[in-house]
Amino acid sequence: MRPSLLNPLFAPVTSLPGVGPKQDKLLRYLLSRDETPRLVDLLLHLPSNVVDRRARPKIRDAVPGTVVTLEVTVDRHRPPPPRNARAPHLVYASDDTGDVVLTFFRAKPGYVEKLLPMGEKRYVSGTLQMYDGIPQIVHPDRVLDEEAIAKLSGIDPVYPLTEGLALGSLRRAIAQALQKLPPLPEWISPEVMRRCNFPSIAEALTRVHQPVELTDVLPDQPYWSRLAFDELLAGQLALALIRAQLRRPAGVRNAGDGHLRNRIIDALPYALTPSQRSAAAAIADDLKQPVRMLRLLQGDVGSGKTVVALLAAAAVAEVGKQAALMAPTEILARQHIKTIAPLAERAGMRVAILTGREKGKERRDIVTRLAEGEIDLLVGTHALIQDDVLFKDLALAIVDEQHRFGVRERLALTSKGEAVDVLVLSATPIPRTLVLTYFGDMDISELREKPAGRQPIDTRAVPISRIEEVMDGVGRALQSGKLVYWICPLVEESEAEGTEHLTNATKRFEGLQKRFGDRVGLVHGQMKGTEKDRVMGQFAAHEIGLLVATTVVEVGVDVPAATIMVIENAERFGLAQLHQLRGRIGRGSEASTCLLLYSEPLGEMSKARLKVIRETTDGFRIAEEDLKLRGEGDVLGVRQSGLPGYRIARSEVHGQLITQARDEALRILKDDPKLKGERGEALRCLLYLYERDEAIPLIGAG
Ligand code: ADP
Ligand code: MG
Repeated sequence: MRPSLLNPLFAPVTSLPGVGPKQDKLLRYLLSRDETPRLVDLLLHLPSNVVDRRARPKIRDAVPGTVVTLEVTVDRHRPPPPRNARAPHLVYASDDTGDVVLTFFRAKPGYVEKLLPMGEKRYVSGTLQMYDGIPQIVHPDRVLDEEAIAKLSGIDPVYPLTEGLALGSLRRAIAQALQKLPPLPEWISPEVMRRCNFPSIAEALTRVHQPVELTDVLPDQPYWSRLAFDELLAGQLALALIRAQLRRPAGVRNAGDGHLRNRIIDALPYALTPSQRSAAAAIADDLKQPVRMLRLLQGDVGSGKTVVALLAAAAVAEVGKQAALMAPTEILARQHIKTIAPLAERAGMRVAILTGREKGKERRDIVTRLAEGEIDLLVGTHALIQDDVLFKDLALAIVDEQHRFGVRERLALTSKGEAVDVLVLSATPIPRTLVLTYFGDMDISELREKPAGRQPIDTRAVPISRIEEVMDGVGRALQSGKLVYWICPLVEESEAEGTEHLTNATKRFEGLQKRFGDRVGLVHGQMKGTEKDRVMGQFAAHEIGLLVATTVVEVGVDVPAATIMVIENAERFGLAQLHQLRGRIGRGSEASTCLLLYSEPLGEMSKARLKVIRETTDGFRIAEEDLKLRGEGDVLGVRQSGLPGYRIARSEVHGQLITQARDEALRILKDDPKLKGERGEALRCLLYLYERDEAIPLIGAG
């Protein structure tokens, strides 16, 4: 149960005056929420910049092009003439050094008169411009009287916005939300408060939303850092709670004598790489230990994680227990089973797949065989965690691409057995500091080297103006029997407004089909699973040679014979995504080529990204460059990048805080594992505020 103290913060934003259904919709979009955001979501939406309105020159001294706040007397109004309603409403005002014109377009009748009453003194703030030699402010940002200006610092926060949402109305909503902030208990320990020089949560929120100094909104200052620490602490505490649960001593151990594993290794058409071997050995060792395994197997795309996962499953099958492998998408689950099934079969291991697609009798059969222990390894999607999917004796949960799964899903899978061991596969190379953020304290195995025989990928950037040459090249490649991916960013133009010029996969498909006939296929995210598989299957079987695709092929798709990839609008993709996409080629023994088609002119960031991707295929290096690049392009030092899944903490600014939050979380659980005391109560508040409360039910389960 959420502490009632927090209720005011969990009220919907629509409870604020001036926030109606239209704002609700915009705010959902802005704050990426499926439901009406709550006040807490507003408060955790931090400014990206500030406007400094403290300059208060006389009109004569005001510098054109700068933001100024003028103290003026209103002399005269000139509303638009009746027959020309589109003319601006002009207000003539002055101080003892000169005149200024305040210009309002499309103002409601009477509005400006009320805002700037004749003969009165007002403070008017905005960017000063010269127009025909006369100082002018068009649509002043603020018009204040004596009383109102006394309350303001003269520094206004600027927030990330979304089309249609006015800065002023967002600011007002946030200011109102701030008023509703209840007194909150302190959940950070006094030592950390002192060491990091943190303000209280109330002060932190107030100062970032109502800055007193220009620097107050910077992520590296104490106010933002305090909030980042809160967010990281909530994350680490949740992970630590899960870990405490998972790390309870396990009774019977799960590693067998190796007979299945040996048979699988014998059946492999290749030799395991040294890092595959040592990962498999580390896992086997974990499985023997009297505590549960929590291991992350990290390896770049194509590094061969699937076979390591299969060996882990085989180890538990050797003692008659079961394993589950959960993937985030159907394509990936099918990919796994395709690799796994033939090897498992030859070793005498029984495997099956369960996704949303298996229905009716087929599904019932699988569920029955699973419950009777006739399946050793079940591969699947979220379908694995449905209530009626019961194992006879689940001993190992393997989760692929785990950062796409929430805590809930992780727990749901591990709760289907007794003391289930956990192996996480991650294809996204995450720099070490970040591993902690997403997975907490885990043992890590890395697959650093690529399987032997891999050819380097020749990557080139080509302007879109040379697309004809590219098409000719693709034609020649098809002629000689090569398999080609053609990646486009979007399926339909309606998917994202304002991106009409982006190439549409369907259109590109039609164009290429005209040229190359039925050797062209199309897959995109909006197709049915079976349809996608059918096309992928045709591609793998060389029935089609050219596959037009959206980023659905980004993760895990494995057609080793494909050697060419064209990526359209490459400048639009992030580094990690380009790397993942390109990882679909260069998987076989033939040399591969990747062409990055870009539209000119290229921005600095896009240029830098394309350079990195051309220079290296090392996923870890790319991940690091990505972090560096995303840290740039900032105004006033306000970083634009974030940690996925984190709203406030930034990897490049708060890296230090990640380990501190981890240590604090571990100390907390050592002192008060049930979060019972006064501080425990406060920490529960923290978990709710940052939506990490999923871990709370675990405390009772101890
Ligand atoms: P990922 O780590 O991206 O999941 P996969 O497990 O899908 O990689 O493996 C990619 C490809 O490499 C597969 O076709 C697999 O059969 C092959 N492979 C895996 N290990 C080796 C190896 N040691 N030598 C050669 N090929 C390998
Ligand atoms: Mg894979």
